Amino acid sequence: MTETWLGGAANAADHPFGVATLPYGVVVVAGEPQPAVRIGESALLLRPATGALLPEHAGLFAGPDLGTFLAAGPDSWLDVRASVTSWLTDEAYREQLEPMLVPLAGLPTVLPFSVADYVDFYASENHARNVGQMLRPDSDSLLPNWKHLPVGYHGRAGTVVVSGTDVRRPRGQRKAGDGVEFGPSQRLDIEAEVGFVVGPGSPQGRPVPIADFTRHVFGVVLLNDWSARDIQAWEYVPLGPFLGKSFATSISAWITPLAALEAARVPAVPRDPAPLPYLDDTGDSWNLDLSIEVRLNGELISRPPFATMYWTAAQMLAHLTVNGASLRPGDLYGSGTVSGPERDQRGSLLELSWGASQPFELADGSQRSFLADGDEVVMTATAPGPDGVRIGIAEVRGRITPALSD
Ligand code: CA
Repeated sequence: MTETWLGGAANAADHPFGVATLPYGVVVVAGEPQPAVRIGESALLLRPATGALLPEHAGLFAGPDLGTFLAAGPDSWLDVRASVTSWLTDEAYREQLEPMLVPLAGLPTVLPFSVADYVDFYASENHARNVGQMLRPDSDSLLPNWKHLPVGYHGRAGTVVVSGTDVRRPRGQRKAGDGVEFGPSQRLDIEAEVGFVVGPGSPQGRPVPIADFTRHVFGVVLLNDWSARDIQAWEYVPLGPFLGKSFATSISAWITPLAALEAARVPAVPRDPAPLPYLDDTGDSWNLDLSIEVRLNGELISRPPFATMYWTAAQMLAHLTVNGASLRPGDLYGSGTVSGPERDQRGSLLELSWGASQPFELADGSQRSFLADGDEVVMTATAPGPDGVRIGIAEVRGRITPALSD
């Protein structure tokens, strides 16, 4: 196993942010946002580090976020990753780099890139079937299109927030008997998802094939797609999710590069019927063995297994562009709620409480079907890495604050 001269926890095989992970984010040092790489419990500031040691790429980190670096594409990503890896593992760089390392404790992080377009998919068969059974108990739990295409919708990029940002309970319309009423959502929910961050764009009119997935997608975040089920249930016919989803979407402060997830690639789940040719990923599956954990007020409530997803991120990207829709740097797309086959693997409270018909109990004795004000949700994930180490996807954390009272 490769070790870093930082020593300590960063070298433990079970530390999710050892030298095999190296995720990118933006930290605020003395009031200034600075692109950084996370190693253990520290951040390496990339502006001074590349300025001193990799001047040909220093321009990628001159801006306030990772936008320029993301847009630069896979050759630059690999150059920088290889350099950072050698800096952190070769004792010869220690003296020069130590002043550029900042402890993470108490260090503010901001959204690591400006989100361009945001798309949310619905790619877990377990989740789709669970929701289908609740909403349409008398018919097939999957709609006829579901196994032919990754179902998705375009969401709201401007309300994507970084981990740690409070989320205000939304207000809106909901059905009440034969009429409607307006007020704070009474069915505020989470959705445990994995988000994919796009670097280089693509021209309008030119679909991105599955084989080009790694030319466009830089890396992975955890994504909590907060959802107001009562608002959603009333508004979504016939055009789909709108205000029940658009008030906030939280993502990790650190992006784990796809380059760190090679050992986490696993075969696709069996698919029937066979996907159309543009969605055929035979021999090139980007199914990822990510083990997600969801905690509510510190208590583990679910372990969604990402490897059970029906559609992969490469198929989602191919579908999202097959009509000629273009990509832009900073595009973000979510996998949809990740739910495994078991009860304790469900990625939403809607499923964990089965539509509020089976509230679950927390360790403090309180019961939940949906979120209460003050509740804090934290999602984390790890994946297999090289030589038995674990690769981390940084946490996404958010706390619910009370709705506006007028
Ligand atoms: Ca979602």
